[in-house]
Amino acid sequence: MKARIVVLGGDGIGPEVTAEAVRALNAIAKQFGHAFEYSEYPIGGISIDTTGSALTDQTLNACKSSDAVLLGAVGGPKWDDPNAKVRPEQGLLGLRKGLGLYANLRPVKTYQSLLEISPLKSERLKDVDVLVVRELTGGLYFGEPRVRERVNGYVRAVDTLVYHDYEIERVVKLAFELSRGRRKKVTSVDKANVLESSRLWRQTANTVKEKHPDIALDHMLVDTAAMRLISSPANFDVLVTENMFGDILTDEASMLAGSMGMLPSASLGDGGPGVYEPIHGSAPDIAGKGIANPVGAILSAALLLRYSLKLENEARAIESAVETAIARGARSADLGGTLTTRHMTDEIISHIR
Ligand code: NAD
Repeated sequence: MKARIVVLGGDGIGPEVTAEAVRALNAIAKQFGHAFEYSEYPIGGISIDTTGSALTDQTLNACKSSDAVLLGAVGGPKWDDPNAKVRPEQGLLGLRKGLGLYANLRPVKTYQSLLEISPLKSERLKDVDVLVVRELTGGLYFGEPRVRERVNGYVRAVDTLVYHDYEIERVVKLAFELSRGRRKKVTSVDKANVLESSRLWRQTANTVKEKHPDIALDHMLVDTAAMRLISSPANFDVLVTENMFGDILTDEASMLAGSMGMLPSASLGDGGPGVYEPIHGSAPDIAGKGIANPVGAILSAALLLRYSLKLENEARAIESAVETAIARGARSADLGGTLTTRHMTDEIISHIR
């Protein structure tokens, strides 16, 4: 297969870890006889410095005409001024909007040999394999009106939590479809005892369920879900929820794996290229030291193979290489070891079959 992949390294450790993900993809291309073509473009802080914009039309157009986008991370102290007119995160939001990416997928899996580095008790973490699907372009983060105003001598701020049925339907449908290749169990998380938007969410999820009789659906209130993710995380298969609940629950779920450096993500829309990135940020505290854990980026490359290129065997080859390398003791600094970013990748690549 031939595929055109746009690489947006971004800032801090972003370019360091995406370079390792590209090495892993090249190892896959060699092993399985594919031809991957890469082109690099700036995004985030580096793009602001060179072009004045966090996402240029040139970068966005290149992404639009690619098969998939591999992203590092954006941001850092240099661009942190909250009053600045142009901010690195605008690059991410512009990319999501420009590519119509309405679903963010974060698989969280625990590794037996890493259980001791999680802040949670090992026995609770055994066999955790949850896929969190977060709605990415609606809800409280995008709703209008959004104002701060003075009313009767007091300052008040208003944000708006709004969802249309079609926005809920498409992301819940995706969650159902994703659960087909897994344990066929979807947990839809809402706050239907309080919020009207959540009642619509629940009702729409039930309608989607009618078209997927082979898949089990249960509903859970977000406060209960926050508790259960810690008390019995292995019971979840696919968890689907709205934007803000998903923002919070995905970070909570990431702690199950022990280190931010381990986890990948995929952002998908309808048909066009997906964006694949580790869940961590640009980690300015370790940037340039060559010690960042590349696993989150490498596993993001596996998701790229699975969801954008439909190369399931190749995706699994990366995932089992990571598992084997970790089981045999490969450890970067965040995992309590001494391997550099490059050596960690070498270990993983050596197990690609
Ligand atoms: P961060 O994820 O960059 O770092 C948090 C901690 O985890 C740091 O101690 C860091 O060294 C460590 N860490 C992160 N990734 C690691 C890796 N691969 N290997 C080893 N250790 C790793 O979060 P932060 O410090 O809150 O944010 C730093 C910058 O990144 C900020 O400017 C923030 O806005 C930005 N950020 C960007 C994204 C993104 O691009 N999607 C996401 C989160 C934060």
